[in-house]
Amino acid sequence: MPLHHVEVWNDLSDAGTLTADVAVIGSGAGGAAVAGELSRAGLSTVVLEPGDIPHPYGFGAHLRNAYPVEEDLGTGFGPRVLEALVPYARAAATLPALRGQRFAHAVGGMMSYWSHVCAVPDHATEAEPSVPEAEMRALWAEAARLLWSNSTVGAAGVRQRHLRRLLGQEFTGLPEGRGVQPLPVGMREDASGQARYSGIDALLDGGQSTGPATVGIVPGYAARQVVLTGGRATAVLAGAVAGGRALRVEADAVVVAAGALGSPAILHASGVRPPALGRYLTDHSMVSSRVRLSAGVREGATADDASFGVWIPSSGERPLHTQIVPGWTEVAGFDRSVPARETADIGQFVAVDPDPDNRLVFGEGKPGPWGLPSVSARFELGAADRDRVRAAVADHVRVADTIRDTSHGLGVSVAPPGGSLHLMGSTRLGTEETGVADGNGRVWGTDNLYVAGNGVVSTRTTSNPTLNVVALALRTARAVAQGR
Ligand SMILES: Cc1cc2nc3c(=O)[nH]c(=O)nc-3n(C[C@H](O)[C@H](O)[C@H](O)COP(=O)(O)OP(=O)(O)OC[C@H]3O[C@@H](n4cnc5c(N)ncnc54)[C@H](O)[C@@H]3O)c2cc1C
Repeated sequence: MPLHHVEVWNDLSDAGTLTADVAVIGSGAGGAAVAGELSRAGLSTVVLEPGDIPHPYGFGAHLRNAYPVEEDLGTGFGPRVLEALVPYARAAATLPALRGQRFAHAVGGMMSYWSHVCAVPDHATEAEPSVPEAEMRALWAEAARLLWSNSTVGAAGVRQRHLRRLLGQEFTGLPEGRGVQPLPVGMREDASGQARYSGIDALLDGGQSTGPATVGIVPGYAARQVVLTGGRATAVLAGAVAGGRALRVEADAVVVAAGALGSPAILHASGVRPPALGRYLTDHSMVSSRVRLSAGVREGATADDASFGVWIPSSGERPLHTQIVPGWTEVAGFDRSVPARETADIGQFVAVDPDPDNRLVFGEGKPGPWGLPSVSARFELGAADRDRVRAAVADHVRVADTIRDTSHGLGVSVAPPGGSLHLMGSTRLGTEETGVADGNGRVWGTDNLYVAGNGVVSTRTTSNPTLNVVALALRTARAVAQGR
């Protein structure tokens, strides 16, 4: 896909200062959604990113496009994803309280590797309270379109048909629209019929095709501080990750979208410290297993059976997201002699209550990564969170027993905190007391400083977060454009 309006500025040897309408910190889902929307509105952005271009298969494209065959997921794609996932700021180890947390420090952030599940949240229980319902639903629909979300993946597949039938018979009585259904996935076919999965190329699409570039991406530079004068952001100070060279980006507005650990660290370093900053961390407890599919699911499936993806969405009575998909990681203890196409991964995301005591702590004056303060975390599940995990494990076994070959064992695992890769809440939307930013993502006490990405989520959710945070980032981009 030609992105004429995007340039990657690898060589900034002459530039001590850059200018743009808007400075965006971080090139993941939040940052790219903002930059794309601003570009479509005709505004220019400079996007700072400490990572590099992650692979040679097209700018912003998803790595999976290089592995079109389902059988290659576990052997080719999976190992490359695991290699790319590192502790925050490439530290030697993850934070002890968030042992499972990893990031992808690359242009595209985690979206270069995500599993492209575009789950639409349950409005009644998961939507941001600061966004009116009709607008939130419209934003989710826009985000789904931008992310190439569609629910037809595997429609022609035999395994898909059997999985939906068996699970539909077992899980009945769920609310309208929230029953067993095809999993929405960010994928579309190109002109030759080849599946293309969405990366940030999808979010940046649609800018002008002639004239100067409106999105300038600067790999290898980490933001250290936003410069503010009387509540007005005027510039971002950044440093080259490799060499210490400094860069100043002057802009009319700044959007901080550096991930759930990076964004609060940058605000803290900039002296912007609303009471909720780094607090109310929330996550998805993740329960997972790999199963050999039962003979009933495999019946009639040939070697070229279309891929599959089945979803049991969260709903009020069932605060649990369940997805059944082909696996891409090695699973300890699972019989390696079972061919990949006879297996499925069952993944569940379980709600965690936002709790102000689950928080990040920034080391005052102590040097941390990339010139930012050092960070530590306190994160513990409460009694209600633990009860939900127990219920999810029981539900998980029920899902597994409906579709699995019971002559193989079943190992159900609960990931360590952060292991879902969905850490949220550290720069949450809310009131001045309970939030870092208002419903438009504008940081309290500032005129033109905004946040985007997973950190903005303030509610207890179970749906994979990207569609929701892209939707909220579109709202933020429009507020930025309007505020200029
Ligand atoms: C393997 C995998 C599978 C996933 N599957 C799904 C899925 O199916 N569905 C779903 O919804 N979600 C999924 N996710 C999660 C999803 O990718 C993330 O929720 C989402 O991409 C987060 O976007 P973000 O912008 O908040 O953060 P990030 O993607 O982390 O982007 C933040 C960016 O900011 C950069 N940054 C950090 N510090 C600085 C700094 N000081 N200055 C400048 N930039 C900085 C980082 O390098 C990074 O590129 C998956 C993630 C992974 C890794």
